[in-house]
Amino acid sequence: MITTTGLTKVYRSRDRDVTALDGVDLHVREGEVYGVVGRSGAGKSTLIRCVNLLERPSSGTVTVGGQDLTALAGRGHRANSALRQARSGIGMVFQHFNLLSSRTVQANVELPLEILGISGKDRSRKALELLDLVGLTDKAKAYPAQLSGGQKQRVGIARALAGDPKVLLSDEATSALDPETTRSILQLLRDLNRQLGLTVLLITHEMDVIKTICDSAALMKNGRIVESGTVSEVLSTPGSELAQELFPVGGEASGPDRTVVDVTFHGEAATRPVISQLSRTYNVDVSILGAAMDTVAGRQVGRMRIELPGPFEENVVPIGFLREQGLQVDVAETAVAAATPAPAGAELVKDGAK
Ligand code: ADP
Ligand code: MG
Repeated sequence: MITTTGLTKVYRSRDRDVTALDGVDLHVREGEVYGVVGRSGAGKSTLIRCVNLLERPSSGTVTVGGQDLTALAGRGHRANSALRQARSGIGMVFQHFNLLSSRTVQANVELPLEILGISGKDRSRKALELLDLVGLTDKAKAYPAQLSGGQKQRVGIARALAGDPKVLLSDEATSALDPETTRSILQLLRDLNRQLGLTVLLITHEMDVIKTICDSAALMKNGRIVESGTVSEVLSTPGSELAQELFPVGGEASGPDRTVVDVTFHGEAATRPVISQLSRTYNVDVSILGAAMDTVAGRQVGRMRIELPGPFEENVVPIGFLREQGLQVDVAETAVAAATPAPAGAELVKDGAK
């Protein structure tokens, strides 16, 4: 639904150039909620602004719903009107809502419809429909200053939907909201995604947002996408930084001759007493160094960092047992490095982990 290839954006100024996007290949499938995470300055906002051509890319292409927007941009008057048309199929939601304070809620939602040249009666009907969709029917005549943050964002979402877009872009839509309101806005985005078949590309710096509503996710760093995939793919990728951010399990080895292992549980494996079985079957003392359990994209997933006595070579069999149980097992680098030169098998085992 959204594809970018080699997308690059360089901001030029007198004293220096900033490469905000450095060859981004993004692919968002129709009907999914796709989250992009990354630190401040990673290029997330620039990416989303390039997707609807609010920002002109320096090079690369942007295709939305099969239409090459970069080809439409800046090629004379007729192409510009085609670009405007294409853009009306892309809704956008902002962190600070960007509502007009002098207009009522309803008039804010009607604004894009006015720009599209839709008549007063149709505008009003459509705006009320949209306000109903976001649960704000009773606020149609209120002014933005009379609304809570969450209500303002609902107006922002209704306005973004005015042109019946197939795609909704959201730049930190929940970053200015408290946790409870954040949850309700995320739920609304999820509902709209399902009810309207809306494809959602959202930018966030909050991992919770990814966990709660995203089907797929990407991690951005220095203008590049360094990891991407469906959330379950990401979570089952050994050594994934994104997975580690989603499930930050910490914990250091308690001594030199120990093997530290990260175990990831998916679905029903999460509820089986695997660790106590391991301990009983092999008569080993398992220490739990850290653990996190959560529901991701509707599935229960957990991570646990455990420590087994003895170096890696002595733990090949128990580690094999964990793999046989269908668990993803990563032998932590730190523990391997802590032992005298890395055992020959260690890397192989890690690479083979699934
Ligand atoms: P993020 O949204 O991930 O925080 P941005 O896309 O806003 O990142 O910014 C990426 C980089 O581009 C930063 O180094 C930022 O300072 C720079 N940048 C963003 N917008 C502009 C601009 N209009 N002019 C110059 N530099 C910019
Ligand atoms: Mg930003």
